[in-house]
Amino acid sequence: MGHRIVLMGPPGAGKGTQSERLAEHLGAPHYSTGDMLRSARDSGTELGREADHYMSAGELVPDEVVLGIVREVLTEGPGQEGFVLDGFPRTVPQAEGLAAILDDDDRALDRVLNLRVPEEELVRRLTERRVCRENDHVTSVDEAEDGGCPICGSRLVQRDDDTPETVRRRLSVYDRRTRPVLEWYRRRSEVPVQDIEGTGTVDEVSARLLSRIGP
Ligand code: AMP
Repeated sequence: MGHRIVLMGPPGAGKGTQSERLAEHLGAPHYSTGDMLRSARDSGTELGREADHYMSAGELVPDEVVLGIVREVLTEGPGQEGFVLDGFPRTVPQAEGLAAILDDDDRALDRVLNLRVPEEELVRRLTERRVCRENDHVTSVDEAEDGGCPICGSRLVQRDDDTPETVRRRLSVYDRRTRPVLEWYRRRSEVPVQDIEGTGTVDEVSARLLSRIGP
């Protein structure tokens, strides 16, 4: 059986970048609910249209919608063996729903990793973040080369929820609805919660994360 890991942290902590690297290292699929919702929105599905309204405002998509997506990927396909979850769970009912989905198959999480980054650094990272049109490479405005993606050269755009006003909203939603999820895991003590310093370079943070997972 593979690893079953949740990577938590506030918006801008580096969950996307780090969970992609971690999943690659473990040979496990990486599931980002944010990415799945954005791709539903870009393909214009009904789910995507419903989600768009919440995402653009920096609010959370309703629990039952997100739980439906996660249930599907964890009960069918490669997610049955192990996974790295990114951006989920974000509310206590989502954490309860995840525990129930896993419990149905006699599975449980191995660990919750929590990336910690000071708030002023989060605001700076989010408002400077740019994503390339072609391949969704994530970069920063000062990494841009001739205004394009430093990796593939395609045009860089700002996510519509990375504007200063929506960033403030997302951070306050995190404090109110997602921080209690960490407390919920810590109180239940069935799954270890490990805090990881999320500042420094991408490589430094990856090394810290991997040292927690072990060989
Ligand atoms: P992210 O890419 O993880 O920052 O997610 C972008 C947006 O997608 C969030 O601000 C929410 O509107 C929505 N979203 C992603 N994951 C969840 C989730 N687990 N629960 C509710 N909404 C979510």
